[in-house]
Amino acid sequence: MFCGPRFWYLAQCICRRPAFSAILILSTLFAAQYLISDSFVYLNRYQDVPYISSNISEGKGRGFLVSNSKCQIPERDPLDPWIRQFVTKEKFEPCTKTALLTRIVKMRNGELALRVNLNLAKNYVDLSCCWAPIHRPKPSETPDRNIDSEISLGSCTEFNDETIIPAKVEVILVKCKAKEMRPRTKKNTRTVYENVHPLLRPEKVSEKLSQRKRSNGTRKLSVLLLGIDNVARWNLERSMPITSRHLKDTGWIELQGYNKVGENTFPNLMAMLTGMNNSQAMKVCKPTESFGLDNCPIIWYSFKNTSYVTAYGEDTAEISTFHYNKAGFVNPPTDFYLRPYIIAAEKYLPLKRHLDNNYYCTGPDLSGIRVFNYALDFAKTFIGVPYFGFFWTNSMSHDNINGVSAVDNKIREILQRLDYEGVLNDSMVIFLSDHGTRYGLFRETIHGWYEDKLPFNYVWLPEWFKVDNADALEALRANARTLTSPFDLYETLRDILARAGGEADPSSGCPHCQSLFSQTKKERGCEDVGVSRLWCACTMFGNNGVSNELAHETANKIVSYIDSNVQRYRNSGGKRICYKLRLKKILRVTEMLESVSSNGTFGYRQFLYHLQVTPGDGKFEAVIRYDEDGSLTIVDNEVTRINSYASTAGCLHAGPKQFCYCD
Ligand SMILES: [Zn+2]
Repeated sequence: MFCGPRFWYLAQCICRRPAFSAILILSTLFAAQYLISDSFVYLNRYQDVPYISSNISEGKGRGFLVSNSKCQIPERDPLDPWIRQFVTKEKFEPCTKTALLTRIVKMRNGELALRVNLNLAKNYVDLSCCWAPIHRPKPSETPDRNIDSEISLGSCTEFNDETIIPAKVEVILVKCKAKEMRPRTKKNTRTVYENVHPLLRPEKVSEKLSQRKRSNGTRKLSVLLLGIDNVARWNLERSMPITSRHLKDTGWIELQGYNKVGENTFPNLMAMLTGMNNSQAMKVCKPTESFGLDNCPIIWYSFKNTSYVTAYGEDTAEISTFHYNKAGFVNPPTDFYLRPYIIAAEKYLPLKRHLDNNYYCTGPDLSGIRVFNYALDFAKTFIGVPYFGFFWTNSMSHDNINGVSAVDNKIREILQRLDYEGVLNDSMVIFLSDHGTRYGLFRETIHGWYEDKLPFNYVWLPEWFKVDNADALEALRANARTLTSPFDLYETLRDILARAGGEADPSSGCPHCQSLFSQTKKERGCEDVGVSRLWCACTMFGNNGVSNELAHETANKIVSYIDSNVQRYRNSGGKRICYKLRLKKILRVTEMLESVSSNGTFGYRQFLYHLQVTPGDGKFEAVIRYDEDGSLTIVDNEVTRINSYASTAGCLHAGPKQFCYCD
């Protein structure tokens, strides 16, 4: 189906066989002309006619991911011809050319030592290294709002070859200097190595470990969640063929109808971790206020109260789930909290930008791999002990749709190590994303529309659990082929918690959602899994349009709605902060076909609108419903921005920035 690796092989062949290359180049030029002219017609249709009623060739599927009377999601080619122009294979960019000069070693007595790689050290003249402890400040009763982003650095202590790091220290900075090798400057020394290491201290949770030894009830299932932001299921297949093959070949179960529930990371992860929808989460958890998230019923607190060891880690501190325009946590939310380590790596180490991410390399390591390495260390350390670990990465994928193609091998390695280290024999692992690409020309295609809504999600169950819970395994396999959402994952986590003697509130965002370990209804539509119409991938696109007049009336109504969200923002002189927007053009109007309405008859028709406004050229998407009585509704009152507004909405510090073009 997908021949990515063959393509790269072919590219290598070109250099070796000139005659073959000439034929290939001629054919490529011919094909390119065809493709370019095809997309030119497609684009021109936007410009020359008032609107395009649909795009027949683009909406075609190849069978179904999900197919029942309430939901049909087409299977599509990950390399759909309409998106090939956006696809590239990114090169893996290592952060250092040599092995790491230092590492943390676990001693027999459980102490942790910092050790220099003596083989590498031979390459330096007069190498001298020191280490410094890094701490998160202890919060006062009225902590400042930035406490979750603060760290302190102690003084640097020199050591030779190896030194034991005191038990209270969980993060260290290491610096090594050596004499310059060049004769003229041989008296000078320079920094030749800097790194930050986390030190995982199981003794922090010794109370839980001793409780575990005393209890002899049923075995509790540990949960390890490993996430890569912004990767659709088809993007995983397209950009990570090695990882994708590994998952399919080794018994992971794919939730192939896993549909996002909110626009970006926060609502999707909150649905999974709290069972709440976005407005409930904003109201209950007050994430922009100090202590808001500390008092939020995130399910890791329930696991913690059920004697699970808990951990949370995420890279790219500035944009991480609980910190992007949010206050984060006053107290560490989990037993093991990776944020001080990530902040230290970003603050004290040289950074290297790659894949459009400024924090791709923090010193000699990839930021994302730092998080997954820690996740592995955590899971391995607590094999046999109930634990809940949540680890999320942004740096490899957040800013570039092809970014993960660079780390395909690296990610497969992480999954293989889970196996070698024995984690897969012990724990449930969920390897997932939160949504697909949300902006740009890719997102404006029908294929991009689907990818946005369908992140990848693979579940691993350990053998012992499958043997003891054959019915749960059977249900999971059946549910994997139906429509599911992050709320179902929340219910699954709640189920695991209940089996371990703990409890958490049922999902308030989706009262009908249920654990994937119990058979769900076969006929499930978006309304059953807490997914609003705007994000629902259970859609086939039809060929019908609407009259030109109606299209313009509708588009102007959408623009008025956009404007109604920002017109109240004024400066001190009472002048509008955001420009008044006008319709520039209608990019697309496509009928959305549903399978069956809740009462068996439709009585309405729905259309997907893409339009562009001026000034600023913002592009938006909305689902419009035309009722039989002639009324027109913006479904769920939701309009989505589908191109970036990062550089044009800076004047609005809070509120609906996506609708604002700064005056
Ligand atoms: Zn995200």
